[in-house]
Amino acid sequence: MATKEPTPMMVQYHQIKDQYPDAFVFYRMGDFYELFEEDAIQGAKILELTLTARNKNSEDPIPMAGIPHHAVSAYIDILVDAGHKVAIVEQMEDPAMAKGMVKRDVVQLITPGTKLSAKMGDGKANNFLAAVVATGARPGDVDQAAFALAYIDLSTGELKATELDEASAILDELGALEVKEVVLAKTGEWSTPQLADMLGEKGLVVSFQGPVQPSATITYLTKDLKNSAGQAVTGLLLQYLFDTQKRSLDHIMPVQTYQRQSYLVFNQVTRVNLDLVENSRTKQKAGSLFALLDETKTAMGGRLLKQWLIKPLKDLTAIQGRQDAVAAFKEDFFTRGTVQDQLKYVYDLERLAAKAALGTLNARDLIQLKRSLQAVPTLQDALTGENASPILQAAGQDLDPLHDLAALIDQAIVPEPPISVRDGDLIQPGYDDLVDSYNQALADNQDWLAAYQQQEREATGISTLKVKYNKNFGYFIEITKVNLDKLAEGRYHRKQTLTNAERFTTPELKEHEDLIFAAQTKRFDREYELFLAVRAKVKEEITRLQTLAHQLARLDVLAALADVAENRHYTKPVFRTDDLRAVTIRQGRHPVIESLLGPGEYVANDVTFAEETKIQLVTGPNMAGKSTYMRQLALIALMAQMGSFVPADEAILPIFDQIFTRIGANDDLVNGQSTFMVEMAEANLALQNATAQSLILFDELGRGTATYDGMALAQAIIEYLDQNLHTTTIFATHYHELTALADHHSAIQNVHVGAQLSDDGQLHFLHQIQPGAADRSYGIQVAGLAGLPQSLLTNAELILQSLETQGAGQVDPLTVGEDKGAKIATDQARVKGQPAQPNLDGLAQDIPLFEIASAPAPQLAVPAGPSMQPEDEAALAELDQVNLNQLTPLAALNLVAKLQEMRSNHG
Ligand code: ADP
Repeated sequence: MATKEPTPMMVQYHQIKDQYPDAFVFYRMGDFYELFEEDAIQGAKILELTLTARNKNSEDPIPMAGIPHHAVSAYIDILVDAGHKVAIVEQMEDPAMAKGMVKRDVVQLITPGTKLSAKMGDGKANNFLAAVVATGARPGDVDQAAFALAYIDLSTGELKATELDEASAILDELGALEVKEVVLAKTGEWSTPQLADMLGEKGLVVSFQGPVQPSATITYLTKDLKNSAGQAVTGLLLQYLFDTQKRSLDHIMPVQTYQRQSYLVFNQVTRVNLDLVENSRTKQKAGSLFALLDETKTAMGGRLLKQWLIKPLKDLTAIQGRQDAVAAFKEDFFTRGTVQDQLKYVYDLERLAAKAALGTLNARDLIQLKRSLQAVPTLQDALTGENASPILQAAGQDLDPLHDLAALIDQAIVPEPPISVRDGDLIQPGYDDLVDSYNQALADNQDWLAAYQQQEREATGISTLKVKYNKNFGYFIEITKVNLDKLAEGRYHRKQTLTNAERFTTPELKEHEDLIFAAQTKRFDREYELFLAVRAKVKEEITRLQTLAHQLARLDVLAALADVAENRHYTKPVFRTDDLRAVTIRQGRHPVIESLLGPGEYVANDVTFAEETKIQLVTGPNMAGKSTYMRQLALIALMAQMGSFVPADEAILPIFDQIFTRIGANDDLVNGQSTFMVEMAEANLALQNATAQSLILFDELGRGTATYDGMALAQAIIEYLDQNLHTTTIFATHYHELTALADHHSAIQNVHVGAQLSDDGQLHFLHQIQPGAADRSYGIQVAGLAGLPQSLLTNAELILQSLETQGAGQVDPLTVGEDKGAKIATDQARVKGQPAQPNLDGLAQDIPLFEIASAPAPQLAVPAGPSMQPEDEAALAELDQVNLNQLTPLAALNLVAKLQEMRSNHG
């Protein structure tokens, strides 16, 4: 039958879908959630569901796909992890009682930033949801605007807000927090369309929130915010949560404001370059500094450690507070061991407290909570023991183990309750008279059943007669077929026939069944009521629980850092209290590389910046350890400022305000930027923002362009740093020519990583930092280690010698060096019969940049002058036409091929 009019159900569906156009609507029908129309088509694809149709035989059937309700969370996870939103539509009344259409409504909107699934994977990860508004004089233009940011982890209730003065800072902060979803104002004063584009381009899910409804909760949670942008952005975030979660959110803590500048600041690139939270190559936690330091025993501790890692401190007193506690734990093996042992029994208190507020805490969670609380007294005793240091004693005295709550749960809830909270078996015997009386009634009936079975066996003479129970039929008497002839006709009423047996009932059995069911229903209801009361009590104590959770998390991190410090032989760094910037690290190590190498294999190095030294130029062969050396300094500085001990025998450090890095040569292809462009953008970021209190690591800057360009830029950058910024900088370079800068600039110091050639020509890396410049770059030997053919290497040696002696002339420009553009420039000049002179504008003329530049022109194999063939002249003319500034390496190769072609025609 063809229907044009939508059914009432589809009308209801559309009313809901229209309110949630950007979400998959999971529409509850009995035991299924149904997807319709476009949601069904897309959902079936993503979730691999069977796509069916409603009204299959009508003119326009409606696409439909169903998900069984008991499996729904797995499907929600898949969609939300893929960046989608899911609106859960439940039946709001019992279908049996409903008049007409069953009322339905959205009970929750699940989004990437609000997902609370138990399978969140590693509990050591926060899931932050953020909101941003643009402020300042020109909020409409994201390049000119300032911003306010608020973020929350719904699973813990931690809420924070800050202000940032530029778009890049917002992106860095969102990146550091691993935010997946950002809430923006839909309309009105705080809405900025450009923001949505900017965040969308970064792959963030953007959600729009309508006006904030003034409420006592928002006022309470934002009471510490002084300015309107902060209030607006936090209000926006909270309103979004109220509108999407539609349930109690009493676990949200009042907003804490922070200043980004109060922490050691570094951007996403640096976080990646230093492998802080994940290994940049594998994208896994293993092989990161986080993995190395993460000896925490609780999920809360793991999350806090990560926060310390991405936000090291600048305040000396705060840093020393952490350091002293780490030191105390390190020295007191007994206390540390006890604390860590007890922490193993502590579950995720933050998330348990949140679940109490959200109404999702079940009886098993209560047992986890109890076990966690029961671990606290032992831990507290260890901390406050008479031999423990005062700092640990103080930490122990501050702990509130919530004895009352632990005792309540212990008395009320059985040790191993089921997951379901509605089906009884939750409440401890002796806790409640009513439950006990129902239990007694049930037990009496069980006794009666046993007696009844015995009585009927005797009466019928059938010794295998059984009184049994199943869900569908309740209680019955079962007699196997072989015994049926012993049964007196009419004694029982037949209930069901099986292949081998018959099932019967009797009025007496029915009567007792009714009694049992009544007692059971009452017991379930009463147990549920009591469970809810315990849960309500937990909810009342959320603030105490959150305080305890935070204290335990902190102890966990401090003990973990002490553990690492002891096991890996780290020392407590000392901070300069004068304003000087000198750095002294004795026998420093790169923590992660050291941990990956076998014992004793890491070569420790000193890092020494005298007060007058601002820039270290590090030279040495590829693979010698230049990057490792420079990262070692950044990691030691960062670890020191997070309160950790550091991998060195001694470290005396100034406090840094920012770390900038330019390391590695990754094209940012997603954003259409070449290696060189990325390189320059990162260099620019450092040069624009660094202060004399910052740390800069530049690794092989200038590598992405022609040799002379690159070298010129490298030198100019070093001179700029020297003249303008006075930032502590390590500059690793393979341009040996730059090392001459140290002769003219007192703030520049040369160091190099040593390498040795053995008698058989094998190169050995010493990984040892030594004063002065490297004598050569050993490129050919490194190539040999990489396995290049021996004949090729021998040829390269010859070419190198001829280049170094400047006269050999039989050099094919494209077989030498890594920079074809510059070679062509040089040879082009040679062909013209002039000494090759690169464009040295802006370069100090007293510094020899490249031996060739000042050497007499080498003789090229091409005969010059009148003996030149027309083909050669044509080739040279072609060469003259080339605009080197626009020549890509590939075009250069093609050009050379063409020139050779022209000449071989002649040959
Ligand atoms: P470069 O930057 O000079 O090319 P890297 O710093 O990347 O070299 O070091 C290359 C490899 O050498 C590292 O991955 C590490 O395995 C090893 N290495 C570097 N420094 C050391 C060291 N101090 N001790 C032991 N091995 C090291």
